Amino acid sequence: MFVLDKHGHPLQSCAAARARKLLKMGRAVVHRHTPFVIRLKDRTAADSEIDGVELGVDPGSRHTGISVFTAQAGERRARFAIQLDHRGASIRTKMQQRAAYRRGRRSRNLRYRAPRFSNRTRPSGWLAPSLRHRVVTTASWVDRLARWSPVRAVHVERVAFDTHAVSAGRSLQGVEHQRGTLAGYEVREYLLAKWKRRCAYCGAAGVPLNIDHIHPRSRGGTDRVDNLTLACVSCNQTKGNQPIEDYLARKPNLLAKILAQAKAPLRDAAAVQTTGWALWRELNARLPTHVASGGRTKWNRTRMGLPKTHTLDALAVGKLDSITATVSAVLVIGCTGRGTHARTRTDKHGFPRLRLPRHKRFFGYATGDLVTAVVPTGKRQGTHTGRVAVRATGMFNITTAHATVQGISHRHVRLLQRADGYAYTFQEESSRL
Ligand SMILES: [Zn+2]
Repeated sequence: MFVLDKHGHPLQSCAAARARKLLKMGRAVVHRHTPFVIRLKDRTAADSEIDGVELGVDPGSRHTGISVFTAQAGERRARFAIQLDHRGASIRTKMQQRAAYRRGRRSRNLRYRAPRFSNRTRPSGWLAPSLRHRVVTTASWVDRLARWSPVRAVHVERVAFDTHAVSAGRSLQGVEHQRGTLAGYEVREYLLAKWKRRCAYCGAAGVPLNIDHIHPRSRGGTDRVDNLTLACVSCNQTKGNQPIEDYLARKPNLLAKILAQAKAPLRDAAAVQTTGWALWRELNARLPTHVASGGRTKWNRTRMGLPKTHTLDALAVGKLDSITATVSAVLVIGCTGRGTHARTRTDKHGFPRLRLPRHKRFFGYATGDLVTAVVPTGKRQGTHTGRVAVRATGMFNITTAHATVQGISHRHVRLLQRADGYAYTFQEESSRL
C-alpha cells in the first residue's frame, strides 16, 4: 500500500494490514482507491525513515510490466507490480479508418481544390501514434508511481541484446560451452533478432528454434555468431551434418540469402528500436535511469527459477544478485482511452448512422468510472465491482474482472473512483504464465 505524508510527499509503502489499522485509528485517510494510496495525517517526510524503492520496466508491444521493489546490495524484494495493457492496435485501426474516410471524401464529386502547402513533413524523433502511446503511457505510470512512492532509480530494458556481450562471445570458446551463461543468453537473443524469430530454412515461426551451425562444426565450421542461424527442430535434423551447399542444392536463392544474411554486421542486425530509445529518453528526463538488455533479463529470470510474466521480467531487469520476494497480486491496467469525441456513429462509408447524446454523464456517472454495485435481489444479485458503461435509461453495464454484468440499475451503484482512461483489475501473479 502506498503511503503519503501529510503534505502529500511519498513515504515508504506499508502492508495492507498496517494500512487498515492506520485508517481505523483515524491516523490516515484514503488518498486514492486504485492503486490504493493512503495519506498519514500526523507525519511528515522529514521525520520519517525512507529507504527508497526502485522501478523495473519491461516494455513490450502489447503489455508492459512495471515492478516496484526495494534493492539492497543486489537483493531485490518486490513490493508492487503493474501490467499495462496497451491499445496500440486499436489506435492503429482507428487512424486507418479515419484515413479511409478522408480518402473517400477527397475522391467524391467536389469542386477542384488547389494543393495546399507541403504538410507531409515529420519532425525528427516522430513516432507513429500507436508507438508514441506506448512511450507516453509507460512514462506517465512511472510518474504516478514516483508520486506515491520514494523512487530512487529506474531500470529499463532498452535493447533485446547487448552488442558488447555478443561480440565478446565471438572470441570465447563457443556458444555450446556458454549455455546458461549471460553471453549465451545474449547470443540467443541476438540470433532471434537477426533471423526474425523464424527458421532460416523453411520460414516457420512460433515453433521451438534450435541454434544451427550454417557450416557444420564436424566439417570445420566455427562457433562464431556469423556461422550461426536458427532452425526448427525438423529442418535442424534433416540438415544434420550436410554442408549447407548440399542441403540447399535445389534452392540456390535461399542459399545465397542465408549466406548473405549470416555475414550482415552486428550493427545492422540490431534492429533500431526507436521506441526503446524514446522511452529511455522520457524516463531519463525524470529519474536516474539504468538500461539493460533483454538477454540479461532472461538470464536473471532463469537463474532465479521464475516463470515468464511481464511483471517478473520487470523485476529481473538489470544487474542483480538475487530476488527474495515477489508479489502475489498484479494490478492489470488496461488502456481504454476516454471515449470518442465524435457524437455520431458512422456507417461503413463514413456517413452518420445514429446520434449519441450530447452529454456523457447520466445519474452522476460517466462511462469508465470505477464503481461497486450491491444488487439485493433478482438475477444479478450480488456485489459487482468494476468499470461502468452508462446508459441514458439508468440501466448500466459493469465490467468486472470476470465478466460484463448488464442491466444494473444506477440506484445500486456507488462510485469508487472517477474515470481516468484506464480499466483496473487484479490478477494472481502465479496464475499468469
Ligand atoms: Zn524449418
